[in-house]
Amino acid sequence: MNIILLGPPGAGKGTQARFLVEERGMVQLSTGDMLRAAKDSGTEMGNRVADVMARGELVTDEIVIGLIREQLEANPTKSYIFDGFPRTLAQAVALKDLLGEMGQSLNAVVEIQVEDEALVARIAGRATCAGCGEVYNDTSKPIPADGKCENCGSTEFKRRPDDNEDSLRTRLMEYYKKTSPLTGYYFAFDLLKSVNGMADLPEVKRQIADVLSDA
Ligand code: ADP
Repeated sequence: MNIILLGPPGAGKGTQARFLVEERGMVQLSTGDMLRAAKDSGTEMGNRVADVMARGELVTDEIVIGLIREQLEANPTKSYIFDGFPRTLAQAVALKDLLGEMGQSLNAVVEIQVEDEALVARIAGRATCAGCGEVYNDTSKPIPADGKCENCGSTEFKRRPDDNEDSLRTRLMEYYKKTSPLTGYYFAFDLLKSVNGMADLPEVKRQIADVLSDA
């Protein structure tokens, strides 16, 4: 089964992708994580995209499609969750072609719907455990008082350079201009399933399981 998690920054795509990886053995392909890894390891491409990402703009289609192609070609038979990809119509068409070349297809596109105001609050206070990737939020889920991750005990937490209010506005703008039209595109392919991302995490997880059960 291959699925896309679609939704604005802060919708909870990464968190729900982690649940699906744990419970179904699917493989998460997050272009955001791949780009951050390239930046952290100082590759030539990583250096090129760092500023674009920090501003909250989209990296070129060519770069992200190349990253996804590499992963799919290395492991053509896994079950994939695409998280943060595709973000443009050109990326959506490229994904369809890539999957087609491997005799695969998409089973569902899960749109996580969240109100704009909630997105700003969720992202502005976000921190991630450096050890295991658990996501914390200054207001809704603060880092425990003893400074240790509740999941793995690590004391190191990371904040993303693009999780500030200016970059977030740009990220939202990019989402509405370039990514949200994909809901219409996938609706037309009869692949679009929407869940309520304003609900709590277990409920969103349940709704996703529900829409996937008949995908
Ligand atoms: P979020 O969904 O929280 O905004 P991501 O981790 O998915 O964040 O992406 C972070 C940044 O990486 C984006 O703002 C953009 O600069 C870049 N990026 C990630 N995926 C893509 C993509 N598919 N196309 C273009 N740029 C991307």
